[in-house]
Amino acid sequence: MKENERTSELKQSRRSTKRAGFNRGAFGEAATKLAEIGKGFFARGWVSGTSGNFSAVVSREPLRLAVTSTGLDKGSLTPAQFLEIDDAAKVVRGDGRPSAEALLHLAIVRDLDAGAVLHTHSVWSTVLSGSHARHGGIALEGYEMLKGLAGVRSHQHREWLPILENSQDMAELADRVSRTLQQSPSIHGFLLKEHGLYTWGVSLDEAKRHVEILEFLMEVLVRSGAAHSA
Ligand SMILES: [Zn+2]
Repeated sequence: MKENERTSELKQSRRSTKRAGFNRGAFGEAATKLAEIGKGFFARGWVSGTSGNFSAVVSREPLRLAVTSTGLDKGSLTPAQFLEIDDAAKVVRGDGRPSAEALLHLAIVRDLDAGAVLHTHSVWSTVLSGSHARHGGIALEGYEMLKGLAGVRSHQHREWLPILENSQDMAELADRVSRTLQQSPSIHGFLLKEHGLYTWGVSLDEAKRHVEILEFLMEVLVRSGAAHSA
């Protein structure tokens, strides 16, 4: 290929990436789906009060996320309440401040190429992450529902759900999250101690399914008493 042809091809590719990066459609679609998911999770008791936060990748280059703004009641979320942030958690679209935990969402998206990140504060994850903190995590094994996790084909799969110490210093916590993901890239989620669950997926649908599966399994563990002997 001639040099000028290659240059023109690169320019064209940069222009289309730029257009994709500021695609209103992708942001609107993500915000609409995230609002629906949030209301569903609220109804299940997984994001009571203003707890929890959700995000989805709108574009990769440049990196842009649709994310919940802080302090919202998740039972009445609307697409207009979502913000678009860049790779430094700076707001590039919408009014409000992003969730304090946006840095954790960015870390997960960067380290695992996730397409969506969902964070819940259920009773079950709060109980288990407290009672198992001394073990550094919880092993989920032998349950049919494990097959709802991406790539898992058998109930015999052993899923390790790490528990990280909670913190209000999000930059420090994002570093610890990154280290955990780099050490264990095949995990499907982690818990913050006495705080809640983080999980993700290549798509929003997959991330939502992972919340449903992991919340189900944590509830089973607590209700069955298996958590006491684990
Ligand atoms: Zn939280």
